[in-house]
Parts: sequence; C-alpha cells; structure tokens
Amino acid sequence: MRSRWNDAEASQLHGLDLLVYASRLVGAETALVIWGGGNTSIKTRERDHRGREIPVLRVKGSGSDLKSVQRKDFPGVRMDDITALLDRSEMGDEEMVSYLAHALQEPGGVRPSIETLLHGFLEAPAIVHTHADAVVSLTNNDRAHDVVQGVYGKDVIALAYRRPGFKISRDVADAIAERPDAKALLLERHGTITWGATVREAYEGTIELITRAEDAIAERKKGRRVFGGARVSVLEPAARRQTALAVAPRLRGALSRSRRVLVGFDDSPDVTEFVSSADACARLADRAGDSGSHDLRQAASVLRRRDRRRGAGSLVPDRSSARSRASSPATHATSRITASKALSCSIRCRGSCSCRVSACSPPGKIGARPGS
Ligand SMILES: [Zn+2]
Repeated sequence: MRSRWNDAEASQLHGLDLLVYASRLVGAETALVIWGGGNTSIKTRERDHRGREIPVLRVKGSGSDLKSVQRKDFPGVRMDDITALLDRSEMGDEEMVSYLAHALQEPGGVRPSIETLLHGFLEAPAIVHTHADAVVSLTNNDRAHDVVQGVYGKDVIALAYRRPGFKISRDVADAIAERPDAKALLLERHGTITWGATVREAYEGTIELITRAEDAIAERKKGRRVFGGARVSVLEPAARRQTALAVAPRLRGALSRSRRVLVGFDDSPDVTEFVSSADACARLADRAGDSGSHDLRQAASVLRRRDRRRGAGSLVPDRSSARSRASSPATHATSRITASKALSCSIRCRGSCSCRVSACSPPGKIGARPGS
C-alpha cells in the first residue's frame, strides 16, 4: 500500500489540523476503512472550563467519515476521566457512552467513537485504528494466530476477536503494556492499531503493516486458484458499464423504498476476479458473518433474513433491515456494500448464477420500481 503522505501539504499543519489531514488519507483508502469505519486520535493539552491546562484526547466522533472528516468531528475527551477507568475491570456500553458524555470538553457536542477507550487507554500521542481488508483476510480463519506470527514475527501483537467496548480496550492496553517493543497490534477479524510519537508515525505504521500483509497474501496466492478459479469470463469494460447503467436505477429504487441510498459500482480487477469466480457467492459472500466487522455482520444478517422471509430473487429490504439501516451510519454503509456486491454479481451472472445469496438474482428480477 502506497503512503499518501505529502510533505508539501502537511508541513504547514499542526495538532488537530494535522490529524484531520492524516485521517483523510486513511479514509481515502477503501482497503483500510469504509464509510464511518476506523478512527484516529491525538493527545493534546487544552484549557478546561475553569481555564486549567489539562490533557485531552481528540478522537474521531461517531457519525463522521474519515475521508471527509473535519476539526469539528473530533470531540475532546478529558484524559483524567479516561485514565480513571483503568481502575475498573468491566463497563457496559450504555454506561460507557454516558460516562464519556460527561467527560467532553464541549458538553453536548459530538459523541466520541464507541472505540474511544482503545485510544484513551494507550499512552502514545497519536493513534490510527483501521478495519483493513488485508487484516481481515489474514485473520478470518481458524489459524489466525499462526498466520499473523508467520507474517509479522514478534513485531506485531495479535488479539483474538472481541466485540468493541470496554473490555477489548482494556485487553489492548494490557497487551501493549506487556510488549512495549511491539510496533502495532492486530485485532483479529477486526483491524489494526498503530501508534507513534507523531501523527505521521502512526499513519506510516499503518501503511507498513498493510503492505506486509498484502505482500504475504500475494506470495501465498502465487500459482493458486483463487475463489475456486474463474467460472465465467469477465465482460469488456464497455459492456460492464452498459450493464451497470441498466441495472443500477432498478437496484437503487428497490433499496430506496424505506430510505434513499446511493449505489456504487466497482469493476476493479479484484472485484471482477471475485464475482466471476466459482466460489463468488455460494461460499464467500455467505461467509460474511464470520467477520468481526459490524458492517459485514449486518450485511449477512440482512441477506439471511431476506432469504428466509421472501425467498431468492428479491432485493427489497424487509422492515427490520430498513430499521437497522436507519439506525447507524455503519449499517447505512452496509447497504452500499450489499448493493455493490449484488450489482457486480448480477452483471456477471446474467441469470445463470446458482449461488445461494438472493442479492445475486439476475438483473431482470431486480427491483420493483425505479429509484427516486
Ligand atoms: Zn474498529
């Protein structure tokens, strides 16, 4: 993975402005995060409401996207309130959210990320956390620990999957305290945590981590049939685009019944290799639930519910999936993923697909009414 850091652009930036810059670089890389995913932080010193200079964590807030994040999207959380939580062994999500709301520099402002304590419990001045594809590729299997060791040796700590919240934040802090020489930490089936004395160090640490993963994956892929090999040939680019133009309005219309959505089209080499493969839908799309990602879990559950209630062939979301999508930006992003996969697969399958995922129904059966 190529570093997008540009000295000419970054040289005039400091503090929170530099964090905004680096965060947008992370957000620009869809292999690192999708909409709303991942978060970044710095530790700084600011004046509190009484004018005292105090340590403050500036961390990405909920509901913003790294790609377009702004200064206002980084709420300040008083570090003294965060480190006080190190005395505790457990804390529920609701209590944690309520507690952090009382620790804000700007009361009533943007809610800090649910993963705030991942940042606040670490001493490093700058932290980057991503949901990188490469890490999910390395760790979505039952040999994750050995695979990570083989790729990174002792440079990187790997922690078994645990849902985001207080406990995983404690585990990360404890693991890094035990291994102060480690360069980064992988959360299996979840993502990366890199840190540094500067924002640039934390950012470049992520790029290096992912590059090593990508190299290892490419090496392992050599001479092997990926996804069971090609099942059908890939259409020429012009034909792919023509098909997408025909399908996209219907797909968007179907998905927009409860709430308007955007449908993305991606026919990059990786995507076309996947959707034209023998295993595309029947094995891999159905295994999305194995991921620790909220987005992929949601996508899988929506697909399964729809399969059960409506049978294959419909892309109309059921009421529960619509509620889920409306409830959080992360699940809104899911609809984009699902739509993208469905569109890509439909373009390839052209009705001949035998996959078990209803989103892969042929174009002629997709959607009930045009998009609004
Ligand atoms: Zn995360």
